[in-house]
Amino acid sequence: MNDQFSPPEEFSLKAARAIDRADPLAGMRASFFVPPAPDGSESLYFCGNSLGLQPRAVRDLIQEELDDWARLGVYGHTRARRPWMPYHENFTELAAGLVGAKPVEVVQMNTLTVNLHLMMVSFYRPTPERPAILIEKPAFPSDRHAAESQVRFHGFDPERDLIEIGPREGEASIRDEDLLELIRREGHRINLVLLPGVQYYSGQVFDMATITEAAHAEGCRVGFDLAHAAGNIPLELHDWGVDFAAWCSYKYLNAGPGAVAGCFVHERHAEDESLPRFAGWWGHDKNTRFQMGPEFHPMAGAEGWQLSNPPILSMTPLLASLRIFDEVGMASLRSKSLRLSATLLHWLDERLGDAVEVITPRAEKARGCQLSLRLRQGDGRRIFQALEQRGVVADWREPDVIRIAPVPLYNRFEDLFHFVDRLETAVHIKGTSQ
Ligand SMILES: *Cc1c(COP(=O)(O)O)cnc(C)c1O
Repeated sequence: MNDQFSPPEEFSLKAARAIDRADPLAGMRASFFVPPAPDGSESLYFCGNSLGLQPRAVRDLIQEELDDWARLGVYGHTRARRPWMPYHENFTELAAGLVGAKPVEVVQMNTLTVNLHLMMVSFYRPTPERPAILIEKPAFPSDRHAAESQVRFHGFDPERDLIEIGPREGEASIRDEDLLELIRREGHRINLVLLPGVQYYSGQVFDMATITEAAHAEGCRVGFDLAHAAGNIPLELHDWGVDFAAWCSYKYLNAGPGAVAGCFVHERHAEDESLPRFAGWWGHDKNTRFQMGPEFHPMAGAEGWQLSNPPILSMTPLLASLRIFDEVGMASLRSKSLRLSATLLHWLDERLGDAVEVITPRAEKARGCQLSLRLRQGDGRRIFQALEQRGVVADWREPDVIRIAPVPLYNRFEDLFHFVDRLETAVHIKGTSQ
């Protein structure tokens, strides 16, 4: 994918700036607010995997909704410049493009964990012969809570029926062959395979196409949590045949804290009214919704899983954000992302190989923006705090991991130089003070 790119030989600000000058996406940074560091300069923001930065276009878009509400009151439902009644439809094409879906397969609604539950109501239908959910270990707590509570809700026993697969002893990522072997061995009793697209802790990218094929061959349903994948790596959910997926919009998608989430339901389930679901009026056929009848006839496709009318003010930032993704395209974002992470890996190896172990897989296909760094020395937390004081915004996970996500929309190669330089200083100060 990046045949021509080799990381800079030289570890210098000059070398980093030279790559930035040649970067076709360098101008995108100006579309975002970069928070200030303690000294007032721009921070080195590497937390786009946790909370993406605010697109500058958000404020005006929200102001338009506020103005329309003030000007129109209830008539805004049909007469606002973006009428509120079909508001979620503004996102359909944009979201479909982002995750490799057909328009009928996607909808923006609720939040991530809520969507996981709604999807499990329809796609986790345990029977005594096939009761289990397969998740990864350690899964993000919310996903584990959701899966475990679903198993319990159906009267099954999580001790037996929540199957967890983790890395081998002493390893940080899950091996493809272990996962596929488990699916082959236990598939007959697995009802639902629920895995991440990108693992939140290690940054490992899962081979979603192969997993889906293997799980379907055993008769399992397959859902993916794309919290760390949407807006990070290219996705082809339709072609991969995934049954469902859900993702939040505040990480790589920059739609703001608690932003409205996304949901995918494969076209093959679009018209299947036999699927049980928790229903609400916004999932009802929009042509007859306002006849206010007692019977539920779902919209075809993902929209049929909506419960409530869309929360306009909290959806608006997502419009600003998805327009940016649409404009730039995942292919060029991925290309820059790989160049950023290759450069960071190279410089970390060269400057800090003794002090830092990168636990994210090194193969391009198995990593996204995020690299997870394990500090080999004992006092990692103090090193992390020293970085924070010097304007590095990253993320600390006990007991010894710094997650750092250079994102192609607003991070520069220059940021990587400063990060490695400051990490070196922090490690060095720590070393000499002993
Ligand atoms: C961020 C994240 C969540 C957060 O869930 P919310 O419902 O948005 O609070 C859940 N699962 C994973 C894997 C995540 O990375």
